[in-house]
Amino acid sequence: MKAAVLEKITNLRDNPQPLSFVELPDPVPGERQILVRVSACGVCHTELDEIEGRTPPVSFPFVPGHQIVGFVEKQGPNAVKHAEGLRVGIGWIGSACGKCRYCLGGRENLCPDFKATGRDLPGGYAQYVIVDQEFAFPIPPVFSDAQAAPLLCAGAIGWRSLHLAGLRDGEPLGLTGFGASAHLVLTLARHLYPRSEIFVFARSEHERKFAIELGASWSGDTTEKSPQKLAAVIDTTPAWKPVIEAPHHQRHPQGRKGPRSDPPDGLPAASLAGKRD
Ligand SMILES: [Zn+2]
Ligand SMILES: [Zn+2]
Repeated sequence: MKAAVLEKITNLRDNPQPLSFVELPDPVPGERQILVRVSACGVCHTELDEIEGRTPPVSFPFVPGHQIVGFVEKQGPNAVKHAEGLRVGIGWIGSACGKCRYCLGGRENLCPDFKATGRDLPGGYAQYVIVDQEFAFPIPPVFSDAQAAPLLCAGAIGWRSLHLAGLRDGEPLGLTGFGASAHLVLTLARHLYPRSEIFVFARSEHERKFAIELGASWSGDTTEKSPQKLAAVIDTTPAWKPVIEAPHHQRHPQGRKGPRSDPPDGLPAASLAGKRD
């Protein structure tokens, strides 16, 4: 199969094209795994962290990509959960033990045997990928392949953050940063909480304009003060400052903080804005 691989950790300033296109053997699905023919794979900021070594892949050359949509090509032994030909999505959690207290509690991201797609396991920048059948999810027909792919990371993080925010319809919501995740949160929030006004803090003029186009009531720079107190503020930036400043915008003193990126292993559940409810 054709694949885009990273050969070694590199600095993107010196090496702006870090991936090479190579031919690799077609993967063979093992016990309870499926082989998926990839039709779309999203690009995530976490891949920059993989390439530059802040969350390094386990071996080289490795195939990145953890927002994968494709079709089940072949079932491995005892993999009966998804029929051949079914369209599925694969996200950051590629495998976990399935037996520990975290797995049994639906928090597989904390499993000691947690493996990340496109970091610990080969990812979706390839024609084919294999995955544990428990971590492939049928994709509803309403989405195209390309529309569904970003929902598997940026969308999942955004959805979980919005869920944790516990907003009630009509309460004003703040979004700090307006990238891959937040613009999906805005769309989700507009649908779930049609009476809530949304206030977006973003550094770039382009992002501020985009926020208004998608239905934000107000957008301003991250240094600006909110024109009104907000019921919740969701921070999707990789910076620390907006988290510190968020309480100044908030109506209620309580808060819940979480990183914007894919959840690293070992963090307490309360600090995750990540993948699972
Ligand atoms: Zn991601
Ligand atoms: Zn486990």
